[in-house]
Amino acid sequence: MIELKDIVVKFGDFEALHNINVNVKEGEFFTFLGPSGCGKTTTLRTITGFIEPVSGTVSVNEQDITHVPIEKRNIGIVFQSYALFPHLSVWDNIAFGLKIQKLGEDEIKRRTTEALKILNLQGYENRKPKDLSGGQKQRVALCRALVKQSPYFLLDEPLSNLDAQLRQQARTELVRIHEIYKPTMIYVTHDQIEAMTVANRIVVMRDGVLQQAGTPDVIYHHPANTFVAGFIGSPAMNIVSGYYSSGKLKIGDVVSDVPELWQKILAGHTNVLVGIRPEHLKPAADGKIKGCVSYQENTGNQRTVTVNVNGETVFVTLPGVGAEISGNIGLDFNWDEVSLFNAETKENIGYVQKGEIVR
Ligand code: ADP
Ligand code: MG
Repeated sequence: MIELKDIVVKFGDFEALHNINVNVKEGEFFTFLGPSGCGKTTTLRTITGFIEPVSGTVSVNEQDITHVPIEKRNIGIVFQSYALFPHLSVWDNIAFGLKIQKLGEDEIKRRTTEALKILNLQGYENRKPKDLSGGQKQRVALCRALVKQSPYFLLDEPLSNLDAQLRQQARTELVRIHEIYKPTMIYVTHDQIEAMTVANRIVVMRDGVLQQAGTPDVIYHHPANTFVAGFIGSPAMNIVSGYYSSGKLKIGDVVSDVPELWQKILAGHTNVLVGIRPEHLKPAADGKIKGCVSYQENTGNQRTVTVNVNGETVFVTLPGVGAEISGNIGLDFNWDEVSLFNAETKENIGYVQKGEIVR
């Protein structure tokens, strides 16, 4: 288990991490997700010991390692730039770290052979990095971390240099490695699809501040604030302004009844932001939202319809084939699939799960 407690990191006067609290469980595939510059790499470097926090503690298995030097931490890391040694062969690049650790010849051979097999690099042992494709280089870098067989495996945007197809392949490989060795994996990415597909749990960060920690499911369906709502999903969650008063919600000119449970959530609020995923909006003449279609895009399996709702842009995704829609339309949503945010703080004000209100 890796625990970050009230971690603050500063570079001069600039505070890069503000009070980060995270608990990574043993054997978990954990991801840090957020836009470039939000502090993901800084967080990883704090765990590995490259950066010392100005306050807070880093613990591994309940032992405070905040001031333990890097080389004593036994944490494998794969960096964003994979920096292979250009003059060494694939085999020597992978075995290098094990030689430094002074492992026996046989053990080095056994581990290197096994890692090459797992990442489908057999036959490439004698090649130099310059004679490999980007994807192969990235896999060599993964092997290099893998052979250390440390119980913790940290990856900093390890797939960022791959094209879309190879990325998907490499993702599958990572999930497989995780299933075989069950290391505690901390994976950093700015790519929400990557985070959603590999992780058991995701932490979303913004400007050095933790926004939300949860399973991919919770992060997707119940974002903690409008930033998380807008960062996850493509197109992202729609956010429209609403006005709540005595059991009724008004979006634009349309007033609709609010079911009892949601009335409880909305009690005390007037101006709210209503968040609805594009796939949860359905054309319906008597819908709770009215707007005008401004654009349509068909990608074969899916249509994305852009609708102007009182000056706010709303995306609706529909099956690729279906009735033509255009002009003024009504859109409906199901209350179970809605996120509600405070219009000022942008924080989620509560949702219903299994008939109970969660705040
Ligand atoms: P991410 O990995 O999420 O893209 P980083 O952790 O690399 O972001 O950086 C977080 C913030 O800290 C950025 O604003 C970055 O410019 C700043 N930063 C990172 N490293 C240093 C450093 N060594 N000195 C000064 N500022 C830094
Ligand atoms: Mg980074």
